[in-house]
Amino acid sequence: MRNLINPFAGICRRPNAGPLKTGACRRDARCAAIGIPRALFYFLYPGLWQTFFDSLGVPVVISAPTNRLTLERAGLISETEHCLPAKILDAHLDDLTGRTPRVFVPRVLSMGRGYIACPKLAALPDAVRAQFGDRFEVVTIDLDENKKPLESTLVALGKQLGFDTMVAANAARAALQGFKNKILSNPDKAEDDPATTGNEALTQSGRGKRFFLIGHPYNLDDAYLADPVRRTLADLGATVDRIDDNRVLRGEGSLKWDMCALMFEALKDLDPVTCAGVIQVTSFNCGCDSMAGLYYR
Ligand code: SF4
Repeated sequence: MRNLINPFAGICRRPNAGPLKTGACRRDARCAAIGIPRALFYFLYPGLWQTFFDSLGVPVVISAPTNRLTLERAGLISETEHCLPAKILDAHLDDLTGRTPRVFVPRVLSMGRGYIACPKLAALPDAVRAQFGDRFEVVTIDLDENKKPLESTLVALGKQLGFDTMVAANAARAALQGFKNKILSNPDKAEDDPATTGNEALTQSGRGKRFFLIGHPYNLDDAYLADPVRRTLADLGATVDRIDDNRVLRGEGSLKWDMCALMFEALKDLDPVTCAGVIQVTSFNCGCDSMAGLYYR
């Protein structure tokens, strides 16, 4: 009988696994597909998760890009009090229903040494289990860069999924490289010194004003959410520098929330002579932004 469950029965893609007897792979829990919702942590660590699971030979299913229907679905199925990105996560999980037996939802506790993440990100696996536990197995790991390097977390995740240390370590290294490549390839990311690039733009074109765009990656890099802002500014002839997520946080100031501190420190480096203004893309009901906005201003 044709195997409808396992998309690659007989040819295991796990590193060094070699060919398997037909159907053998179906019994190996490591080979079950894993879903990644195109929301929140997908944008916080671009390229990382997909490269990691790919390197392990685990088939990956990513939800479709956000569109108007995603937003409408989010409004219908998600908890009213969630912020918009958390609602969008629910709609992306809904999109994965029936396409994968398990989904990956990390518990993001900190994305930098000395910093903490938004508390909502720490509760995600629990919230997802509560709402989608009857549809998927929820694979999770604590991601706390304040205590443990990202590479070690990835190795632990690989071992938790049943891979041996060497295979998990190789996948972790590949994933970090994929993550680095993705961040460096971001086309409109700001240079280290936005003021310098701003000078060039202003002298080349009297019309071209330079603006600095800040926001959480899951708002700025979700094309459906941020492209209207970019298009409007482009139509006006303005140049936009996006905040560089790869900045090294200096630990200055009093903000302890990682993404908010990233924005706060970047703003402190701006030169008002060369930067015409700052545009913040924020989402409704964001507790962190509502508190940190006073610092930004
Ligand atoms: S930082 Fe704001 S937008 Fe992001 S998950 Fe937390 S509350 Fe939601």
